[in-house]
Amino acid sequence: MSANVQELLLSRIRDVHDHPKPGVMFKDITPLLADPAAFTALTDALAGLCTEHGATKVVGLEARGFILAAPVAVRAGLGFIPVRKAGKLPGATLSQAYELEYGTAEVEIHAGDLGSGDRIMVIDDVLATGGTAEASLGLIRRAGAEVAGVAILMELGFLGGRARLERALDGAPLEAL
Ligand code: AMP
Repeated sequence: MSANVQELLLSRIRDVHDHPKPGVMFKDITPLLADPAAFTALTDALAGLCTEHGATKVVGLEARGFILAAPVAVRAGLGFIPVRKAGKLPGATLSQAYELEYGTAEVEIHAGDLGSGDRIMVIDDVLATGGTAEASLGLIRRAGAEVAGVAILMELGFLGGRARLERALDGAPLEAL
């Protein structure tokens, strides 16, 4: 991706102090979504990564990952699969619990949406601790599919998410635009 596009994307991400709680610097992507040039450039870049890494399907992580991954899937000509918070998907699911700073969370995938022969690219907006993305890799592998990689808009470097996720990726790429 060119430095110009990177600058455009960065300029459309808003830092919101103390949201959703004191001490958190929230990376708000809504200005980027509202700008068709930026949203298109982001979609094209992520779709290019899907093609480059031989993905056959795209997984989006609830909730902002859905907004990014759905147009990427269409642009790349691939199927879209949601990874949702527990209790939302109506069909037969696989579940994966993971640790949060305080307590645990759980994500689910429809087991029938993917399987052997699939190579899955996981897409989200922000990589923080890496816990959500790591849990999604567990779901993908338990469904019998292969992980093509994880592609995100930005990573928060100080939380150690990259190191954690790279261990879980086991050689598959982590692409941060
Ligand atoms: P984690 O599992 O810690 O990597 O958290 C990842 C999820 O939380 C992503 O889906 C992000 O959308 C969201 N998230 C975490 N921290 C932030 C932040 N500072 N700004 C925006 N989104 C965040």
